[in-house]
Amino acid sequence: MDRQVPEIMYLKGVGPKRAEVLKKELGVESVLDLVQIYPFRYIDRSNFIKIKDISSSNSYIQVKASVQGIELFGDKGAIFTQVFNSDSPMISPVPGDFKWHTVKRMRVMIADETGSFETVFFKGIKWTYLKLSRGGEFIFFGKPTIFGGSYNMVHPDVEQSNNSSTEGEGKMVGIYPSTERLKNAGITNNVFGKIMTAAWEQISPLIQETLPEYILKDIGLMGLKAALFNIHFPKNPSIADSAAYRLKFEELFFLQLSLLKQKYVNTRLSEGIVLNRVGDGFNKCYNSLPYSLTGAQKRVIKEIREDLMSGKQMNRLLQGDVGSGKTMVAVLSSLLAIDSGYQACIMAPTEVLAQQHYRNICKYLAPTGIRAALLTGSSKTKERREIHEGLENGSIGIIVGTHALIEDNVIFKNLALAIIDEQHRFGVNQRSKLWAKGADGMAPHILVMTATPIPRTLAMTLYGDLDVSVIDEMPPGRQPVQTIHATETKRTAMFNFLKDQIRSGRQVFIVYPLIYESETLDLQNLEAGYDVITQNFPWPEFSTGIVHGKMTNEDKNRNMEAFAKGHTNILVATSVIEVGVDVPNASVMVIESAERFGLAQLHQLRGRVGRGSAKSYCILMSGVKLSTDARKKLEIMCKTENGFIIAEEDMKLRGPGDLEGTAQSGLPVELKIASLAKDGDILSRARTYAERILNADPTLSASVNLGLAQELRKDKYNVRNYSKIS
Ligand code: ADP
Ligand code: MG
Repeated sequence: MDRQVPEIMYLKGVGPKRAEVLKKELGVESVLDLVQIYPFRYIDRSNFIKIKDISSSNSYIQVKASVQGIELFGDKGAIFTQVFNSDSPMISPVPGDFKWHTVKRMRVMIADETGSFETVFFKGIKWTYLKLSRGGEFIFFGKPTIFGGSYNMVHPDVEQSNNSSTEGEGKMVGIYPSTERLKNAGITNNVFGKIMTAAWEQISPLIQETLPEYILKDIGLMGLKAALFNIHFPKNPSIADSAAYRLKFEELFFLQLSLLKQKYVNTRLSEGIVLNRVGDGFNKCYNSLPYSLTGAQKRVIKEIREDLMSGKQMNRLLQGDVGSGKTMVAVLSSLLAIDSGYQACIMAPTEVLAQQHYRNICKYLAPTGIRAALLTGSSKTKERREIHEGLENGSIGIIVGTHALIEDNVIFKNLALAIIDEQHRFGVNQRSKLWAKGADGMAPHILVMTATPIPRTLAMTLYGDLDVSVIDEMPPGRQPVQTIHATETKRTAMFNFLKDQIRSGRQVFIVYPLIYESETLDLQNLEAGYDVITQNFPWPEFSTGIVHGKMTNEDKNRNMEAFAKGHTNILVATSVIEVGVDVPNASVMVIESAERFGLAQLHQLRGRVGRGSAKSYCILMSGVKLSTDARKKLEIMCKTENGFIIAEEDMKLRGPGDLEGTAQSGLPVELKIASLAKDGDILSRARTYAERILNADPTLSASVNLGLAQELRKDKYNVRNYSKIS
């Protein structure tokens, strides 16, 4: 669409004020943007319902009815009432000097042959009144609500009925996104539809097909122009579906095409440091492991090793549930780098995690004699200087740390592998700094580890240009965590259970959610919880610690440590303990107001227990009254411990945009119509198809594909910076 696309301001029914609101609320600037705001569902307006059949199960309905009476209300009550019947079917006009501005509400009783029904208006009263005063039958369209024991309808759309036999025929009305501000600007769904009609008249001559003819034929897709028309103004549900399919396919197809093309470019262009020696370090560590690796760990290490030897730079995502043994994979991969004469770094999102990694890694490295170091924000100046030296002269083989690792003054002798734990907590800028620290002017190999399993469809999109490894097998001997959902009535029993556990030597986490907008109130909520616990678990028999985000690092670490060492029995916490903390002796995780947490977060929290040999429990405390979604969420938790199943369910419940762990990184492009949660099949088909095209024509330079290449040059497909995860 090369010709200038008109602005929406000049559309009939828009104007500068509404244009501003549309821009703010929906990001719509041009008429082209506007026609890409799609209805999220349709209402079949070919159907009329009788008033006696109205029930709350109807969402939108329309009735054909005539007006029985009208009342106009001001601040102090009724100011004008008019009742009429078959003798006086017309509303007589209000007095000439009627003060419309004093009217705050209009009540209109309507009736068909089966009953009567009340409608209410707060805005556009004069206009609606004058329309109704013409008399006759009208079509009222809206959502019935129950008020004072009977149904009414607030602000229905009102249309004069022409009583023709074809009335309503072929009428599918699109329902568009709506916000408070849109409504306040008078952009009701009805108005939206009218604006869309005006927009369509302007834009339709300018629309050019974006997919080559051969794809339309192969897949059996509707042309773009037809699809856009039919998504907004369909004659029947099936044509709306075909239109939606075309638009979804296109969206997912171009997204996959751009990601895959980037992947081809990366693999062809980015040279990688060759790490091909398996030497003493690897072997000594491997041979002294107290257990054998799981099949999944072995497979993943093999995949990584092949990447490291390939001469191409690795960009790999490692997904594995909490406790699946990713640390071991990180250590062995690092040793591959060190054995080949290079350095490796492991970056964690928090100080506590960095320390924990460091401790574990030192254990694994003990038999190898390789030097590891820990660098965090709280490393002392002297220590820091020594570490900087060790990194520059190569005497440190593995450095573990936080963001402190990417500071400019951290210089490596020859960094070849960077491992990032819990990738979503690092921003793109931070990752690119790491990227610049590689040996010989080459980017280091990158391994991103995440314990937030991502559904397949989302991984394909978020990380479409990455290689993905999955550890889908838990180390043996792991006890399942028994998960129980309980309400307040069970609190005493729950406390007694905790006491039994503690008396038999176990430890307990109790986690509180952030409930309030305000940090102060959240802290109060947590502290109130802490008080309840200390009263019910009195010292000296029991001892309770607390951690939350508002503490100084020092206090936080001290309290975590006290719990980790078994000095405290109970740790009361906010979700700061969510990630990675390893206390094998903790056997119970109590989550208060569990319904307020997201599924992914609940899963992460539960992963804190069941790490030792004792039977472990997760107790989800919730209110009695739960929304359907909340109940479903807790049921899923009680049913499965498989992070991938939970992630899939989470995506279904919440939609991928809200998925934890991905919200920050966001999707590489905004999806306007496709849903990763619901359109997995279309996505797979689009991806396979994109692969096929790129396999035959990697640079998209065949003449049939020039259009595709041109489409990909658009800004919205410029996902390069995003996709370079490192
Ligand atoms: P993750 O980082 O994936 O959450 P960890 O690497 O912390 O998991 O491993 C969890 C626990 O399992 C650790 O105590 C680790 O020593 C142990 N572990 C790892 N791999 C194995 C294995 N193959 N067999 C037995 N235990 C293992
Ligand atoms: Mg870990």
